[in-house]
Amino acid sequence: MEHDDAAPAPATPRIDTSKAHSARVYNYILGGKDNYPVDVAAAEALLDAWPKLATSMRINRDTMRRMARWLATEAGIRQFLDIGTGLPTSPNLHEVVQEVAPESRVVYVDNDPIVLAHARALLTSSPEGRTAYIDADMRSPEKVLRSPDLLETLDLGKPVGVTLIAMLQFVADAESLVRQLTAALPSGSHVALTIATGDLTPSEVKAMAEEYTRRDVPMFLRTRSEVEALFAGLEMVGPGVVPMNRWMPEPGDEIRDDDVNMYAGVGRVP
Ligand code: SAH
Repeated sequence: MEHDDAAPAPATPRIDTSKAHSARVYNYILGGKDNYPVDVAAAEALLDAWPKLATSMRINRDTMRRMARWLATEAGIRQFLDIGTGLPTSPNLHEVVQEVAPESRVVYVDNDPIVLAHARALLTSSPEGRTAYIDADMRSPEKVLRSPDLLETLDLGKPVGVTLIAMLQFVADAESLVRQLTAALPSGSHVALTIATGDLTPSEVKAMAEEYTRRDVPMFLRTRSEVEALFAGLEMVGPGVVPMNRWMPEPGDEIRDDDVNMYAGVGRVP
């Protein structure tokens, strides 16, 4: 885990340290330091419910990397909108895609103040490319799509790769979010997502989701057909909706479906 500076910014009224936050819980489980005691307590309770959560989160980061690389190399995407970015975690998406194409532009969006406090580490673009960070709630996608920071960085007349990695399980109406986003993007744009499910290891992952919800981070598990419905109107590319470790694994990757609690899929705007 790498991030820009050693300690989280001092608590401000915006950073609520009395409740667990998904970005900070995630950060703790991945071995980061940007979290508070309430997040550690939540993370430990989640790990008690499903000890493989840490493995699944690492596989999720790896799936993000494979998807971003695929979008850059195979789909030729040069502009990315990463929604629900989380705390900077190496490699960040812009590092992955700028390795393929240094001119790539990336806009990051998150609504957690702790992510905002660390956003500088996301703004280390290659000189040829550009990165921006927007502090916004994606339940209002139209506001984000109209924001000057986004419009200065991305040309919405050209295909955009939208990545929603381990984010939509925190949104009640994921379908509407994806629909509004894709309606605004041109043909050739792609949506790549990973999203939590209880299909693969039902009892443990359901207990974990209940634990999250109990700690004020409501978490929604989706079935495979609910995840497929998120891609309505898009053309599926690659293997379709699959357990994330089956999304174009690399040689040597071990495939154990009970190691993961997320589906992955990529769709193309026709
Ligand atoms: N994409 C990263 C982090 C996932 S954690 C990764 O996979 O490693 C989920 C992130 O989504 C958190 O940082 C949380 O703050 C963010 N998030 C949740 N709901 C959101 C919303 N409505 N708008 C913007 N970001 C949101």
